[in-house]
Amino acid sequence: MTTGCYEPSLADLNGLDGVQTALHARAAAVARAQFGNRVFVRGVVEISNFCRENCHYCGMRRDNRALGRYRAEADRLAELVLRHRPASMTDLNLQAGEDPVAAREVALPLVRHIRQHTSLGVSVCLGTLDDSLYDALHEAGAETYILKFETADPDHFAECEGPGSLVERVRTIRRLAAAGWWVSSGFIAGLPGAHPEALLHNCRLAAALPLRGCSVSPFVPGADTPLANAAAGGADWTLNCMAMLRLLRPDWVIPSVSALNIAEPGAGYRRGLGTGANLVTINLTPPDLRNDYVLYKRDRFIMTEGRILEAIAAAGLVPSPTSLAEHFRRTTPSPAASPPA
Ligand code: SF4
Repeated sequence: MTTGCYEPSLADLNGLDGVQTALHARAAAVARAQFGNRVFVRGVVEISNFCRENCHYCGMRRDNRALGRYRAEADRLAELVLRHRPASMTDLNLQAGEDPVAAREVALPLVRHIRQHTSLGVSVCLGTLDDSLYDALHEAGAETYILKFETADPDHFAECEGPGSLVERVRTIRRLAAAGWWVSSGFIAGLPGAHPEALLHNCRLAAALPLRGCSVSPFVPGADTPLANAAAGGADWTLNCMAMLRLLRPDWVIPSVSALNIAEPGAGYRRGLGTGANLVTINLTPPDLRNDYVLYKRDRFIMTEGRILEAIAAAGLVPSPTSLAEHFRRTTPSPAASPPA
């Protein structure tokens, strides 16, 4: 569903002060009309920081030899999720660099175990894999695939050494959706070399894809990356893109990402919830591993359940008792109701 009348604009993208306040309030009202005051609470476990890709904006790129690599043990993570997960969490996301070994040897058994022993919704964010591995993960019980396109500009995607090409990325998103996955994507706001119109293209591309959600992350210059000395993206473009996405797609699941805490310490995350974001993520990665999961830099702001619940309450919202997976199930048209392909 789209609002049908909203068109992303440079005025909204660059809006500050009163313009921005009005944009965010409008987006938040649209989200409340669709979802009430409920916010989905998902836990994330970062299962591996090995990556065969080389994205310039990411500290886990394969050329970063300064990074100690880890691949977590499935049994350890199963124990963590089954016995020690926060009470407010209804969904789990398994995330890694593009590491097919971890996808097969860690994610796959873990998804099976979680599906067998819990009612958690399960999403995976594991990069580009073989079709057989996507199928195996789906059959094991993972329902949502997160595959970010990062920028809608194919030349810029290539310059940044994004995985494969933008065309392939988009094709994979469509293929996953056609195979029955609920697909979510994402892009970066303030990527060095991107002009403001590119962010509008990002919003339009996202809205045109068969997605159930989309994230916007502020560009944070990562240590030991080719962009280490570039200027940070800042919070405002990120927040304004989130609001524009919400106006384009009232039904989407849009997270407030933890990197907003780096872009605007103390306020960014809370402001994200004020743009109509309706998903928050608790980091469950064991402390001895998560210091090496460096998308940007090591001094990450770790979102604990306490911090999450505080931010939700401060925004006048409440944790959703319904899982994201259950929400998608309820709102996915049955095949009989779907228009012919
Ligand atoms: S963004 Fe993803 S695919 Fe690219 S280097 Fe980082 S972990 Fe790998």
